[in-house]
Amino acid sequence: MVKAIGLLSGGLGSMLAVKVIQEQGIDVLGVSFRTPFFGADKARSAAEVLGIELEVMDITGEHLEMVKDPPHGYGRNMNPCIDCHAMMFNHAGGLMERTGSDFIFSGEVLGERPMSQNRQALSVVARGSGYGDYIVRPLSARLLPVSAPEEKGLVNRDLLLDISGRSRKPQMELAARYGFTDYPNPAGGCLLTDPGFSARLRELEEKEPSFTARDVEFLKVGRQFRLPGGAKLVVGRKHAENERLLELARVGDIVIKADGYAGPVCVIPGGEAGGDIEKAASICLRYSDAPGDKEKLAEVRRGGDVRMLRVRPCDQADVDSVRIGV
Ligand code: SF4
Repeated sequence: MVKAIGLLSGGLGSMLAVKVIQEQGIDVLGVSFRTPFFGADKARSAAEVLGIELEVMDITGEHLEMVKDPPHGYGRNMNPCIDCHAMMFNHAGGLMERTGSDFIFSGEVLGERPMSQNRQALSVVARGSGYGDYIVRPLSARLLPVSAPEEKGLVNRDLLLDISGRSRKPQMELAARYGFTDYPNPAGGCLLTDPGFSARLRELEEKEPSFTARDVEFLKVGRQFRLPGGAKLVVGRKHAENERLLELARVGDIVIKADGYAGPVCVIPGGEAGGDIEKAASICLRYSDAPGDKEKLAEVRRGGDVRMLRVRPCDQADVDSVRIGV
């Protein structure tokens, strides 16, 4: 039996591609990926709907390094889709070899995304993956050059599709034919396509080029500030964010809270506050219930070392001047 590995994002295109391949009697194993920027939850639900097995790979380290300097650049935001797709196909190719499968495929549609899914980009992705001779794009295959698996007769080109462009209509009609009623809309799922998150990430990359996956986790929480001495300050906006910040904080980080007043958890990741500690404490008090007209105490903790700082809550203009991604 012919076996294939399907890249399964959980989006409609990837689900339809699996169906089109399965209809040829080909056995499909799904593969999906996890990084700090996207997870595999949608893919898991899709695999359940499709009744296929799914392998989830954590590619955080390699993906993070690529995001810092993608050879083919970024899309509209911080999304390096060409290199990201090539990396995914590369891992899918490795899985194909390990499982003795015959080819790999995805739900990409020619022209659906102008920058990363035009003819040239699709061929750059295929070449960059190292498995170009094994890639099939079932939804647009009849508009693309004949792939090696088609040539070898592993998959029948006549039964593949010729969908192109940004309209979702053909895909929705196909979804109805396959009885898919509940599928995610195309937007969302990858933080690298989000303008607000991208602004934060761009700032981090500029100021701390060797940032880690943990720094990315901090980017997802609360208000963010870059203090005059260079320290980063993250301020929780609600209870769940305060809890998340406490979860993320490690021994070397500085954690600041208002003393005697309700208010946010504030963290300086890495704890290198330099001359910024008073500014950080005053921002913390600004977002607490402490009245703004007098000096108040802020508790500053680093591991087991706790001290109290007496500062006046920052005024709004000062806060705005150091805020990231407003
Ligand atoms: S949208 Fe995100 S996950 Fe998808 S290819 Fe682009 S960078 Fe990768």
